[in-house]
Parts: sequence; structure tokens; C-alpha cells
Amino acid sequence: MEIPYARQSIDQDDVEAVVRVLRSDRLTQGPAVDDFERDFAAACSVPFAVAFSSGTAALHAAAFAAGVGPGKDLITSALTFLASANCGAYLGARPRFADIDSRTWNVNEKTISKLVTGDTACVVPVHFAGLPAPVDEIRAMLPDGVRIIEDAAHALGARLAGEPIGSCIHSDMAAFSFHPVKAIAAGEGGMVTTRDAELDLKLREFRNHGISTASHDSARQGAWYREQHELGFNYRLSDIHAALGRSQLSKLEVFIGQRNAVAERYRAWLADVEELELPPAAPVGDLHAYHLFVVRHRDGADARRRLFDGLRERGVFAQVHYIPVHLNPWYGEKFGYGPGLCPAAEKYYAGCLSLPCFPGLSIADQRLVVKAVCEALQP
Ligand SMILES: *Cc1c(COP(=O)(O)O)cnc(C)c1O
Repeated sequence: MEIPYARQSIDQDDVEAVVRVLRSDRLTQGPAVDDFERDFAAACSVPFAVAFSSGTAALHAAAFAAGVGPGKDLITSALTFLASANCGAYLGARPRFADIDSRTWNVNEKTISKLVTGDTACVVPVHFAGLPAPVDEIRAMLPDGVRIIEDAAHALGARLAGEPIGSCIHSDMAAFSFHPVKAIAAGEGGMVTTRDAELDLKLREFRNHGISTASHDSARQGAWYREQHELGFNYRLSDIHAALGRSQLSKLEVFIGQRNAVAERYRAWLADVEELELPPAAPVGDLHAYHLFVVRHRDGADARRRLFDGLRERGVFAQVHYIPVHLNPWYGEKFGYGPGLCPAAEKYYAGCLSLPCFPGLSIADQRLVVKAVCEALQP
């Protein structure tokens, strides 16, 4: 038997929601997308939510709307999935990498402020593993005019000082992903939330080839008339995916509760395992979304490799999140980045391992994971 590091939880309601769309008139962006956007905005306590075909598309659109382009910098965390930085590169900007705070594994106002220059168009803090990054303090440090896009792909359902991530109280936009390993699954899909009506409009146009949503000259030209004003993409979400996403969203609180229960059991059961550092918990007032439950082997890369391989032999498919982005060959060749740029992220990477953590992980399976960890750590 194999236990994956992540897995979606799909029930009969989800299946029926998708089947209803298949029997309807519209398959792509239609009423199911409208409903999903409305419910998502409500869940995040934010006025606007714009659906995309993936989290990557959502970040690309958000970076575009934030004015990222040639001659500009986009600052993100060294410890994230590639898409947080690639969205700047797509637009001809230079991605730059802030180091993590080794107490939280998130960027903070100090690690970011070192990189801010007159060329900085936007900052993309990542709520790594689902622990809220200090976006309030980052906002307070940044000059006016520098935009903040939260990469909230790990953090749907998390809260910072009681407010849902995605409420954009301290940021311009927040981007989410509905890849099956994330808090809710749509197959593929993404969302951007914002409080700014102008950004909402730009996001909607970018999603649809840059075609203007205003009916410019249609009175004179005819009702068909729509002009392209920007270079956008086809980043639409289908109604099929939106129906699944919306049905999943209705269970978000349950899912986050189950993820927190998994995390609490790991904390109890692994507390005495000296080789492992346990992940930072959320401070009082915040809520962790536990997209990942990451442990760090204190002895670094070789010991982590033995643990990883030992778990695989026992059917436990742990993962490593992530190779720091600046250590990827493309970033080396294109921007000259390499080892030493972000020492705390590199040290984290040498020992990190994501243990299975998802709502449907049974207590029996979680016991097997912990047993396998203890066995694999034996010399
Ligand atoms: C998953 C993820 C993305 C990209 O989302 P997709 O829906 O897979 O395109 C972006 N950033 C982070 C941090 C992620 O984990």
C-alpha cells in the first residue's frame, strides 16, 4: 500500500455538481464560474474574485495587472514553487529572491526590504505551507506604489490576525490554486481576489485575450463589436472545473479542520524524535492551513535522503518542497543566480521533507507513517 503526501477528497456532491454542468447548455466560462467567483469572494471577505484556468495563470494575470514588465523587478521568496517567480519572467521582468526567516520559513519585511529599489514593481510574499506571512508588516515597510500580490496557493482557509487570507486588507491581490494537492480541488484552476475594481477589470480582460469588457463602439458598429486593448491569453476556467471548485469550497472549513488535526497528531507523535525539527506553528490569532506538514532532518542532506528513501521502501511517498527557485538551472543561466544567494532557504532545503498531510489521511495510516519514519531513522 502507498500513502501519498497529498490527495484530494471528492464526495458524491462534487460528482453531482460536475454532472449537472455536463447536462447544461454551457461547458466553459458561464454561470458556474460566476457562482464560484461569488462564493469565493464571500469566503475571503473580499469584493472581487476572478477565476483562472490555473494558479499559474492567476499569478501571471496578477503580475500583469500590477504593472510588472521589462526593466522592473518582482521580489518573491526563495522558498516557493517556481510559478511565484516565473510570473514575473513571463512579463520580461527580473525575479529577485528574498531569503526566509528560519523561524517561520516565510519571507518577512527585513528580508524583502534589502532588495527593494526604484525598479521594484511588486512583491509576491508566499504563505509557505499555509502559515500566514506577515503581509501587514511588509506593507508597512514598502514604499507606496509597490504592489503586493500574495501567493496564497498554500493558504486558502488560513487566517492572519483573524482575517481570511485573500481578504487583501494589506495587499493588492491574492492568487490561489485549485490543483488537486491544494486545499480545494478543481482538477486545474486558480483565482485572484482584490478590493480594487480597476484591477478586477484588468484581470478579467487579461483572462480573455485582452479584449475590452466595455462595449466601446457597439452602438455604432453593431452588437458583435469587441476590441482587443492589451495582449492577453485564454486563461478561462471551464464551468466543469468551476462546479467542482465551488462544491469543494463549501467544505473548506471541514478540510482545514482535518488538516489541523493531522498536524496536531504529528506534533504529539513526533515530539520526542530528536533528529527532526517540527514546523513553525501559527501564533495565537492566526490559523494555519497546513497545505504541507514539513519536518526538517537536523543532520542535513544525506540524512534526509536516507529518510526519504527509507519511507519510499515502506510505501510512504513523502516529498521535498522546494528546491529554492534560484538554484534551478534556468535561473542560473538567465539571471546568474546560484548557491549562497539565500542561505536560510538553502539550509532549510538541505533537511526538509513533507510528510503525508491531507483531509482523508486516516489515523491508522498516519500511525503507519510515523512508524515508518521511526524505522527509517534507525541507523
Ligand atoms: C501550486 C502552486 C502554484 C501554481 O498553481 P497551479 O494551479 O499548479 O498552476 C503557485 N504557487 C505556489 C506556491 C503553489 O504551491
